[in-house]
Amino acid sequence: MSIIVIGGGAAGMMAAIAAAREGAKVVLLEHKQKLGLKLSITGKGRCNLTNVAKLDEFLAQVPDNARFLYSCLNQFSQDDLMSFFESRGCALKTERGGRVFPESDAAKDVVGVLIQEMKKLTVKVRTKVEVTKLMQEEGRICGVTLDNGESLKGTVILATGGKSYPLTGSDGSGYRYARDFGHTTTALYPSLVGLQCRETWISTLAGISLRNVTLSMGQGKKKREEFGEMLFTHQGISGPIVLSLSRQLIRQLKDTDNIPVFLDLKPALSEEKLDQRLLREFSENAKKDLANVMKSLLPNALIPVILKISGLEVHQKCHSVDKVGREQLCKALKHLELTVTGHAGYKEAIVTQGGINIREVNPKTMGSKKMAGLYLAGEMLDVDAYTGGYNLQIAFSTGYVAGIHAATYDEGEDL
Ligand SMILES: Cc1cc2nc3c(=O)[nH]c(=O)nc-3n(C[C@H](O)[C@H](O)[C@H](O)COP(=O)(O)OP(=O)(O)OC[C@H]3O[C@@H](n4cnc5c(N)ncnc54)[C@H](O)[C@@H]3O)c2cc1C
Repeated sequence: MSIIVIGGGAAGMMAAIAAAREGAKVVLLEHKQKLGLKLSITGKGRCNLTNVAKLDEFLAQVPDNARFLYSCLNQFSQDDLMSFFESRGCALKTERGGRVFPESDAAKDVVGVLIQEMKKLTVKVRTKVEVTKLMQEEGRICGVTLDNGESLKGTVILATGGKSYPLTGSDGSGYRYARDFGHTTTALYPSLVGLQCRETWISTLAGISLRNVTLSMGQGKKKREEFGEMLFTHQGISGPIVLSLSRQLIRQLKDTDNIPVFLDLKPALSEEKLDQRLLREFSENAKKDLANVMKSLLPNALIPVILKISGLEVHQKCHSVDKVGREQLCKALKHLELTVTGHAGYKEAIVTQGGINIREVNPKTMGSKKMAGLYLAGEMLDVDAYTGGYNLQIAFSTGYVAGIHAATYDEGEDL
């Protein structure tokens, strides 16, 4: 059996390895000069390759189509992935929130293991190649043609990633191979990306990060909130809780450029408790400047901004703050409104949401339901997760399953 893998990222390399281990003759085609360009910058260069969450907790981090992954994660679980790397000399460690990293904190070690394993299994790697089209014969995919006119024969695994961080090679060009054979893509959006905001004061806080804050959007049943860390940028907001909220927000940004989000700078205190605390601090420090007393509540850089929004002065004495002033201050601390007007786009998005419609793919094999001899894996599918190592595990698991099943492809398999 000959297998052609298109795409040398996490999913493609794992697919090539799995297929070769089944005894298939494998060639991997990558259009960039190097393999695993995105993988080597993941987790800020440390590669958060998976998460030790239990299966149901894992799937809860996949907002859409989580059930599609059930079989894949059973066939190649987080434990399987971790033993794969550890048994090949890449020791791992688990950090806060179940996030798994190489002990070396070097994503290049993860890439290195994959490249080394492919070498061992004599996977033929060809970089800087462009596939012009996939060929079919008697109702099944039988190979590819390259832009130099060459043709290669074999079952095809598509693992070309999404559209995010196109500089790493995932430029969305791969979707077209699947579309040529009747596959459809759901609406594509960048996800896990920084947001731009209208408020001009934000740029004065660029680089300031906040911990233990809550960011929310929507109301009632549609309310979504995230608790944790965020940071101000020159144009808006970013950081873990912003990235998580961005997934939903970006879908709404296609209809408007004006979405309010609310920052609670003191989520541990109810409004009542916060008011009592302000009252106490202001009466204990009646003759001091407001800005000085606010230091116990806020990072320095934020104090003038919050006071201005509350209609108060930095050098105003605490005794001069009346009930209305305190109410305004409480509001700014608990419901600071920011207006989201845009996002940083695919150029900076961690993942793409949307992709090849999963109804067109067999969840047990990653085989196409549209065309025999075609398999799909990784971020190009319509499954994406929040941050925490889930996206890479999805790429590795779907890649592994595609590799195994493509290599053992039975001509009689039902579509
Ligand atoms: C900055 C950043 C940090 C991240 N950090 C993490 C993290 O720590 N943990 C985590 O779980 N996830 C992380 N992610 C997400 C994760 O990297 C992706 O979800 C994952 O890499 C997807 O794997 P993939 O193999 O499907 O696609 P990719 O890794 O994008 O690989 C696709 C490959 O296909 C090649 N290709 C594309 N089109 C063609 C074509 N037409 N012909 C030939 N080759 C082609 C590309 O060049 C690329 O090498 C991060 C993403 C980014 C951008």
